Amino acid sequence: MSRITVLRLGHRIARDKRVTTHVALVARAYGAHEIIITGDRDDNLIRRIEIIVEKWGGPFSARFEDNWREVIRRFKEAGAAIIHLTMYGVNLPDIIDEIRRIWRDGKDLLVIVGGEKVPGEVYGLADYNIAVGNQPHSEVAALATFLDWLQEGEELRREFSNAKLKIIPSPRGKKVIRLGSEGLPINEDDAGH
Ligand code: SAM
Repeated sequence: MSRITVLRLGHRIARDKRVTTHVALVARAYGAHEIIITGDRDDNLIRRIEIIVEKWGGPFSARFEDNWREVIRRFKEAGAAIIHLTMYGVNLPDIIDEIRRIWRDGKDLLVIVGGEKVPGEVYGLADYNIAVGNQPHSEVAALATFLDWLQEGEELRREFSNAKLKIIPSPRGKKVIRLGSEGLPINEDDAGH
C-alpha cells in the first residue's frame, strides 16, 4: 500500500499545542505513516507523539521541518500526489473516487492541513484542493474524515506493530493488555491508561 504523509502547516507553540497533537494522533490512528510539522519548532510536541508510538505502536513517525515549500517540492519530485484540505476546494464526495484510484494504483499521498492562515501559494502547489464539506470547521475533523473516506473504514481494523499496550475491545469498562517484545501478552489489567 502506498504511503500517506500528513503535512501540518503553521504550528504555533502556545496556541496550537493541543490541536497539532490531535492532528498527529488522528494521522497515526487513521492510517498515515508520518507527520511533518512546520511553523514553530516544538521538540516537546514531537516527544509527546513519540511516547504515544512507543506505547501504542506504529509504524508512525513525526518530525519538524523548517520549510514547507521544500517539503512539497520533495514529495512532488518523488511522484506523490499533493492534497490540500481546504473548505474552498472540490467537495470530497465529488473527488474521492479519483483519489482512491490513484492511491490504490500506488501513488503516495501528501495530505496538507493548515493552521490559522494558509499561504495562497499552497492552493497552486497542490494537485488537489479538497473540501470536507464547503463549510469552515477544523483540521482535525477534516483530516479524520478524509483519511476515513479514502480507506473506507479499513484503517479502523489496522493492527499496530511494536506496541507495548493493546486494548481488548469491551462493551463496558477498560481492558488493556501489556505486550512483550514478541508482541505477546505478558499480563492483563483493567486499569485506565
Ligand atoms: N482560514 C484558514 C485559511 O487560511 O484557509 C483556515 C483555518 S482552519 C481552522 C484550519 C485548517 O482546517 C484549514 O487550513 C484546513 O486544512 C482545515 N479545514 C477547515 N475546514 C475545512 C473544510 N471544510 N474542508 C477541508 N479542510 C478544512
